[in-house]
Amino acid sequence: MGTEKTEPAGTERTGTQGTESAEVGTGAVEPAGLEPAALGTAGTGTEGIEPAGIGTEGIEPAGLEPAGLGTAGIEPAGMGTAGIEAAEPEPAGLEPAEMEPAREAEEPPGSPALPAEAPQHGPLAAAPPGEAVLPGREQERERERERGRRGAGGQGSTGRAARGRARRAPGCRSGGENSRRPGVTVDSSKAKTSLEALKISLRQLRWKEFPFGRRLPCDIYWHGVSFHDNNIFSGLVNKFPGMMETVRKITLSRAMRIMQDLFPLEYNFYPRSWILPEELPLFVAEVRMMKDNNPSWKPTFIVKPDGGCQGDGIYLIKDPNDIRLTGSIQSRPAVVQEYICKPLLVDKLKFDIRLYVLLKSLEPLEIYIAKDGLSRFCTEPYQEPTLKNLHQVFMHLTNYSLNIHSGNFIHSDSVNTGSKRTFSSILCRLSSRGADVKKLWSDIISLVIKTIIALTPELKVYYQSDIPAGKPGPTCFQILGFDILLMKNLKPVLLEVNANPSMRIEHEQELSPGVFENVPSRVDEEVKVAVIRDTLRLVDPQKKKKDTQCPGWERPGPGEELPGAAAGAEAALPSLCLKQVFPKYAKQFSYLRLVDRVAALFIRFLGVKGTTKLGPTGFRTFIRNCKLSNSNFSMAAVDILYIDITRRWNSMGIDHKESGNPGMCLQAFVEAFFCLAQKKYKSRPLHEQVALLIEQCECRLAALQGQRLLWGCALGERPAPAAARPRRRPVFPLQKPARLSALVCRDTTGS
Ligand code: ADP
Repeated sequence: MGTEKTEPAGTERTGTQGTESAEVGTGAVEPAGLEPAALGTAGTGTEGIEPAGIGTEGIEPAGLEPAGLGTAGIEPAGMGTAGIEAAEPEPAGLEPAEMEPAREAEEPPGSPALPAEAPQHGPLAAAPPGEAVLPGREQERERERERGRRGAGGQGSTGRAARGRARRAPGCRSGGENSRRPGVTVDSSKAKTSLEALKISLRQLRWKEFPFGRRLPCDIYWHGVSFHDNNIFSGLVNKFPGMMETVRKITLSRAMRIMQDLFPLEYNFYPRSWILPEELPLFVAEVRMMKDNNPSWKPTFIVKPDGGCQGDGIYLIKDPNDIRLTGSIQSRPAVVQEYICKPLLVDKLKFDIRLYVLLKSLEPLEIYIAKDGLSRFCTEPYQEPTLKNLHQVFMHLTNYSLNIHSGNFIHSDSVNTGSKRTFSSILCRLSSRGADVKKLWSDIISLVIKTIIALTPELKVYYQSDIPAGKPGPTCFQILGFDILLMKNLKPVLLEVNANPSMRIEHEQELSPGVFENVPSRVDEEVKVAVIRDTLRLVDPQKKKKDTQCPGWERPGPGEELPGAAAGAEAALPSLCLKQVFPKYAKQFSYLRLVDRVAALFIRFLGVKGTTKLGPTGFRTFIRNCKLSNSNFSMAAVDILYIDITRRWNSMGIDHKESGNPGMCLQAFVEAFFCLAQKKYKSRPLHEQVALLIEQCECRLAALQGQRLLWGCALGERPAPAAARPRRRPVFPLQKPARLSALVCRDTTGS
C-alpha cells in the first residue's frame, strides 16, 4: 500500500475476517533464540543473481561492530574531545532581527515561537536480561541519544574539536560565523503524526520551525501525507507528486511485473502476484497448471485489498476458489500473492523489517538507505499455514497495528527485546550465530535499488505533470518505508513500499483497564528521529549554497558530512545514519533502467503540460517520428493498437490522477512499446528486444533534432544567444543522449 494510517487509538481491529481473539494470547513466547533451521542456508536464495561487488562499506548497520568498537561508524571523528567555541549558539529558532519578518500573522497570539521541549524520558530502566548482549553498544547509544537531545550546539566538547580541525577556504566565514547563520526555515504545519520526531530533529539541527506556516516562503515544507498538502512553488518538499499512487499495491505489482517480464531473475525478490478481479481467471489457470506440473506443491496465497493498510481486509487462502467474490472484490480491487510460508523466525515468531529509504532526487537518481530500521514481530508462535490456522492474524501478519491488540504484545524499552525491535539487534543476533549479514545487506541494498528503478518511470510522469518544465516548482525528496520479509534462507522478499511510513515516536499504553496514555517509544525515537534529522542534513539548502560559494573547500564524498567549520551546528551530531547506495552502485544497475528510457519517450510526446496520458495524436507522432510504421505495420494498425490497449487499461478502473481522461497511461504505453519491440525484433529475449527498439527511437529522434537544427541554420535562423533564450528547467533527458553520428544507427530489420 502507499500510505500508512497512524496507529488507531485503542480501537478494536482484526484485519482478517474470522479471527477470534480467543485464539490469541495463548502461545507462550519462548525465549530461545533464532530458529536453528534458519541458519546454514544463508544466501542460497539469491546466489548467482546479484551483480557482484555490491560492497557494504559504510553501511554495516549500527550494532554490528565487533565488541569494544561500539561506536564505529556512528561517531563523527573527534567526538568526545575538548573545545567548543563554535557552538555558542543562539537559542533554537531565533533569527537575527533583520531576518525575522513581522511576526507571522498566521500564528495565533501566544503560540509558542519555539518548539516545545523534547519529551523527556524517565531514567532508563534497568537493562532486562536480554539486553546484556551488547552492553557497550547500549551505553553508547544512550550517550548518543543524550547528545542528540542536547542539540547540536550543546555545551559538549565535540563542537570545539571539530572546529579546530576545520579547513577554511579563503573568503569563507569561520565556523563561529557559520554557526550564527540564520537557520534553515521549515514549515511543519502539515507534518501530522511525524511532527514530534520532526520537532526533535529541528531542535537538534537548530533550524527554525514554523509550526503554523509562514507568509514568506520557507526553505523546506514537511508534509504528513502528500505533495499536495500545501500549495508550494519554491523550496523543498518531503513528498514527490504521485508517490502515493505509484506505490499502491496494484500499481506496485504492475511495475514489478513489467520488471519481472524484462529481468525475471533480478526481480525474483517480489512474490508472484495477480491483480483482482481482472486476472482472476489467469490466477486460477496458472495455479492449476503449476499444481498439475508439481502435485506436491501445496501453496498458500495472501489476498490484499488495493489501497488498504495495517493489514486491513487481508486474508489467506489455500485454494484460488476461496477468493471472496462477494461484492467487495468488484468494488475493491486487490492483489493476490504467493504467501511466503517459510519466513525466518526469531524466538519462534515471524517478523518483518521496516527499512527507511530516502529518495533524495529523481533526476539524477539518488538513493540513501538508513543503517537501522525496525523489526515488527507477530505475537503468536509461527506455524506453516494450514486450513486450521489460516485466519490467525497474530501468527501470520506482522503489522504493529494488529499485534498491539494481542495480549502477548510486549512493549520494551530495550531495542533488542519485545515486539518491536531495531533491525540492527536482529542482525547482531544473526551475526553471532554465524550468518553472513554482509551478504544479507548487499541483497537488501540490491532489492531497494531495483524496486526504486521499477518505480521511477511512473514517478517521472507525475513529476512533469505537477512541476512542468519551465516552472520554478519545489524540489522533492521523500522518505519511503520498505517492508521486507526474510526467508528462512535469509533471502529478503519485498512485501510493500509505504509512501507515508509512520513516523510516530510514541505508543499507546493501557495504564489501567480502559485507561490509555501515549508514552514515548524508545525504539521508534531512536530510529525515526535519526532518519528525519539526517534526511534534513542531506537536503540542507544552505549546505548546497555553502558548497557552491566556497569551491576551495575539500568536498565531502557522497553522503558524507562537510568538514568541521562548514558543518557548523552539525559538528556535534552523530555521523549520518543514511548511506548513499545510488549512484554509488549505479554501474551495476544501469542496465535495468530500460523502462525509464521508455518513459522519457512517453513524456516527450505527451505534449500538453500537466497531463499524464498520451492522446492518439501524440501516439501517432511518436510512431512517425521514430519511423516505426512500414508496409507491415500501417498507421491504421497503429490506431488499432492504441485503441485496443488504451481501452483495456481505462476499463480496469485504476485509481489514477486522470481517470476521466481517455488517453493512454504510461503502463499502457509500456505494453504497446513491448508489443512493437516483440514484433520488430523477433526471437530474442524481451529485454534485448526492448533495448533495441529504445535505441532505434532515440537515434531517430536525435537525427530528427539534428535535421531541424541543420534546416534552421540553412535558413539563417541562428539560435538565440544563450542569455536571450528563456531559462527552462531541463526535461528528463533521454538516458543515452544520442549523438548526430547516430544518424546511421543500426536497425536490424532494415525498416
Ligand atoms: P498492509 O499494507 O495492509 O500492511 P502488507 O502487504 O504489508 O499490507 O501485508 C501485511 C502483512 O502480511 C505483512 O506485514 C506481512 O506480515 C504479511 N504478508 C504480506 N504479504 C506476504 C507474503 N507474500 N508472504 C508472507 N507474508 C506476507
